Amino acid sequence: MSQPAPQLSLVIPCYNESTVLPLLRERLVQSLAQLGLTWEVILVDDGSRDDTFAQLVAMHAVDPRFKALSFSRNFGHQTAVFAGLNHAGGDFVAVLDADLQDPPEFLVTCLAKLNEGFDVVYAVRRARKENIFKRVCYAAFYRLLKSIAEVEIPLDSGDFCVMTRRVVTVLKRMPERNIFVRGLRAWSGFRQTGIEYNRAARAAGETKYPFRKLLRLAFDGVFAFSPLPLRLATYLGFCTLGVSALVVLFVVTWKLAGFKFMGHYASDVPGWTSMVCVILFLGGIQFLILGVMGEYIGRIYNEVKQRPRWIIREAVGLEMDERRED
Ligand code: UDP
Ligand code: MG
Repeated sequence: MSQPAPQLSLVIPCYNESTVLPLLRERLVQSLAQLGLTWEVILVDDGSRDDTFAQLVAMHAVDPRFKALSFSRNFGHQTAVFAGLNHAGGDFVAVLDADLQDPPEFLVTCLAKLNEGFDVVYAVRRARKENIFKRVCYAAFYRLLKSIAEVEIPLDSGDFCVMTRRVVTVLKRMPERNIFVRGLRAWSGFRQTGIEYNRAARAAGETKYPFRKLLRLAFDGVFAFSPLPLRLATYLGFCTLGVSALVVLFVVTWKLAGFKFMGHYASDVPGWTSMVCVILFLGGIQFLILGVMGEYIGRIYNEVKQRPRWIIREAVGLEMDERRED
């Protein structure tokens, strides 16, 4: 199993992708033949319930350059990508989706750019073939993240990229559990650049990203790369304090000066409406702040538990443990 490392590794997460795998294999063999590099494809079966892994085993039997890992359960797309990166042996490592939305032919352009002296070449989506709701959500999320994240996370770029070995080495050292690959990749630094491409429609099968999972991904991005939500709590606190001080000032003046306000003197004010407003407002803000704290505490708890980030049930063409220690 200790053949020389290939020049290019492709990492592809697969979750219930049995309908798309034959198409994927064909496209990869065709497009990779044009590169003139030695290559391997690492397919990470993220706990699929269909025959994805059986197909991957068969693919390996026919062509050992296709290698596969199988998780003991569904750990999520980002974790699958990370596990793949940990097992990739190539000097260049690419990340693609299994559904052919990221055209493998585009890797030629990316590799050419990499040879100009870049360490990361990521693909920027020019057009998407998703419904309008998803497109609006994506656009809004990337713009929000760009404006609040502490590192520059490029707009409209997903995980589709090619990286040099030294970037992969940096990523492998990141111990976190709440993985947001495109953020960590940006964080690693080096020379990075984007190239635009048209994102194709999914070649077969259904999306494996229901809205719930997308929302979780968005939260991982925001909370892992921005302290702004925590600061927001402080800002809101200051604002509430300011408003409260003004209200107190008014109420005291009203009482002392004894003038009529909204048909009442302060002494005979029933006070019910204002009281309810104040309670609801303050209560709302406190819950919001607690929620924000909770998000971070939940994540800290997740990190300190130090559980393994994924569990490999089976591997074909790869060691169960990471192959290449840098
Ligand atoms: N995926 C995964 N685990 C999951 C969900 C998705 O490995 O829990 C993989 C999936 O097989 C695909 C990639 O992540 O290769 C992107 O998923 P999908 O194409 O369904 O997402 P979309 O493009 O619709 O956002
Ligand atoms: Mg897709």
